[in-house]
Amino acid sequence: MIYLDHNATTAPAPEVIAAMLPVFSSGWANSSSQHGPGQQAKRTLGAARATVARVLGCKPVEVIFTSGATEANHLAVRGLLAASAPERQRVVFGSVEHAGHLKLAHALREAGTVVDLIPVHPDGTLDLAAAAALIGPDVALVSLMAANNETGVLMPLAEVAALTQAAGVRLHVDATQFIGKLPFVFSSCGADAVSLSAHKINGPKGVGALLLRQGVPLQPQTLGSQERARRGGTENLPGIVGLAAALERLGDLSTEAQRIAHLRDTLEAGLRQALPDTHIWSHKVARLPGTSYVRFGQLSADVVLQRLDRLEVAASSGAACSSGGSQASHVLTAMAVPEEQALAAVRFSLGASTSMDDIQTLLNTLPPLLAPLLHEECATAP
Ligand code: PMP
Repeated sequence: MIYLDHNATTAPAPEVIAAMLPVFSSGWANSSSQHGPGQQAKRTLGAARATVARVLGCKPVEVIFTSGATEANHLAVRGLLAASAPERQRVVFGSVEHAGHLKLAHALREAGTVVDLIPVHPDGTLDLAAAAALIGPDVALVSLMAANNETGVLMPLAEVAALTQAAGVRLHVDATQFIGKLPFVFSSCGADAVSLSAHKINGPKGVGALLLRQGVPLQPQTLGSQERARRGGTENLPGIVGLAAALERLGDLSTEAQRIAHLRDTLEAGLRQALPDTHIWSHKVARLPGTSYVRFGQLSADVVLQRLDRLEVAASSGAACSSGGSQASHVLTAMAVPEEQALAAVRFSLGASTSMDDIQTLLNTLPPLLAPLLHEECATAP
């Protein structure tokens, strides 16, 4: 199988599995227990927290372990909002946030909170002028992704951080797709809170973290004593150890990013050459190195994915979490892409496991399957 769906999830790395196994078999005690095994588990937890903090450039006390990015996002937005002054109760989200995160925006609205969405330009980049206009003295926080999971477009974090800091507004960044793909340092990123998830970086599923700048008030959303009472519930120690191991093995990200960008560029150039009807969204703007969001004429994504399936290539139509239905992606809709074109969107996301052989195999096998369909499409067009 050629796996080109790394933005959906990644395979746990052998080092990650090796680090987790002893926690299941022997180091399974509750890290809050007073006895010897409990104290051992507490040390394991502390060591994992120190590793996460070292790799991500924050202090250990700034790490709150969660069940993943969705929970970290909820904790950040609801927790920062609840801890804000009464005159700051408006919330600003990016309009192309992860589908799950936008559900939170809608839920807040339904409960009476004023929520504004920052629009994007047709190339998927953030409309900074609109962001500046929305950030005012009545805003509690801005919640913005670092990189979009569908287009890969990078958001202007430094510019938005300058706006939020000048206005005394909190900034939460969903860095789920960014961390592990490009270099990231929490202490200098300008955000008050940052979400991440282990399964996007060859770690296990169901574990992630919210990094919260020390001193920033946050109202917990799950009550309990763990994580300094900021997130109650017995910690998922095997998962946390897996997250730390996944971060530790990342290595030199700039070299890997260059390798992956070269593979992505080869893929895009090859597809365009073989199939002139190939359209690539956001290819002229700063993107994640391994994300390619394409359509082949107006061939429906379902048809393309069926052909890819025959070739044993795993890719995605839009975000994995929203695939399965035939609704146009909210990201492309926000970019003013017409529905017929949005329904043709196929996402290839390359990653650590991708080789030049994978790309060449795809380039040799996919165009011959799609070319006749594209000819048919041309012939039947009005
Ligand atoms: N935010 C972004 C940008 C994502 O891509 C994802 C995963 N698709 C999430 C949040 C949710 O992460 P998790 O699966 O860890 O809840």
